[in-house]
Amino acid sequence: MTNNTDGTEKLYDSRPYDKTFKARIKKVIPAGDGAMSLILDRTVFFPEEGGQTSDTGTIEGYQVRHVSIKDGIIYHEVLCNADDLHEGDEVEGRIDWDHRFSNMQNHTGEHILSGLLHSEWGSENVGFHLSDNTVTLDTSKLLKDEELCELERKANEIVYLDIPVECRYYSPDELDGIAYRSKKEFDEDVRLVTIPGVDICACCAPHVGRTGEIGIIKVIRAIKYKGGTRLTILSGRRAYEYLTSQQRTVEELSHKLSENPDNLPAAVDRLMNDIEGYRLEKLNAGKERLDRAIAGMESGGSSIIFTSEIDNNVQRRAVNTITGICGGAQKAGEGTPAHEGWGICAIFAGDDERGYKYIVSFPGRDAREVSKVMQEKLGARGGGSAEMVQGSVTAKEKEIMEILKGSFGD
Ligand SMILES: [Zn+2]
Repeated sequence: MTNNTDGTEKLYDSRPYDKTFKARIKKVIPAGDGAMSLILDRTVFFPEEGGQTSDTGTIEGYQVRHVSIKDGIIYHEVLCNADDLHEGDEVEGRIDWDHRFSNMQNHTGEHILSGLLHSEWGSENVGFHLSDNTVTLDTSKLLKDEELCELERKANEIVYLDIPVECRYYSPDELDGIAYRSKKEFDEDVRLVTIPGVDICACCAPHVGRTGEIGIIKVIRAIKYKGGTRLTILSGRRAYEYLTSQQRTVEELSHKLSENPDNLPAAVDRLMNDIEGYRLEKLNAGKERLDRAIAGMESGGSSIIFTSEIDNNVQRRAVNTITGICGGAQKAGEGTPAHEGWGICAIFAGDDERGYKYIVSFPGRDAREVSKVMQEKLGARGGGSAEMVQGSVTAKEKEIMEILKGSFGD
């Protein structure tokens, strides 16, 4: 964790606001996929470490795709050819400052939250991940919604106080008597990040100079995780961009529903009640139509019925009813009207646009024959037994009837 004299001098440690630097190349190692790995005598590039992904930027104009650290030596993977950069060359590096500053805001925001969780809730940081897409903080205790609101409120109070953040190395002697958060034991100098009155934590990453630079800290999600809580957090610019996008969504909904943003939940409740009402009306209408179709079938109508969306149980019972009529006709022989439908008893519920859910029986034959034809000729999905099959198909009534007639008609 110390500034290893044999390794790479970590300029980001003491000068986190430097955006460019000059350094000498100590070694060039092929890194595969059109990249070379550079070891420099010094760097402002923060390597992937402690749950935080590495800085990005350029060295002599060549893109730095990843930065890693091993035994105090920092490796810069640069997209260039073997003869572009040489050992002994003096080079200029430039980090992507927006990316770095966002990481500084988000990392310091995480320290404030972890410090508060430790001091006020006795809950420990057991995991941290800071990438370009997500920032998560795992804490050991399960936290209630009210506690998360309180945590967020207190964290933002610390932002307003604009407290200076101090980062420096402490010798083992100096560390005696300092209570700091750490996931590891150290027998060497330790870099502590101190936010006076809030948090002291062993950490290798660059931080903002004052808490005010964080701007805002938001907890945007909390889920149960390994007996504790995983918080998804956003600080600074990322929080601002997230909230801006959320606001746009609310504005769009507000416009669509012609309601003030504050009235949206009530407006959506009303809308959902209406939808449920329409759905029930439609199901009832479907059932009535079905009853009429079955009544028509009793006097010789078709035993393949198309209807609007109906409840699945109603559909199943109705197929049993028409199977009784259709199957009964075959057994009864003379005196009972013959039904159109080539022996197939089926109900297709839905419409030509969105397709149909079907339940089919084939008295005296295997219903899976119908299922097979539906699958092969119309791309239907589903299955079942010899007695009854069910599935769904995206096709029009006319097409379905043509296929069934072509396959099972005389
Ligand atoms: Zn840290």
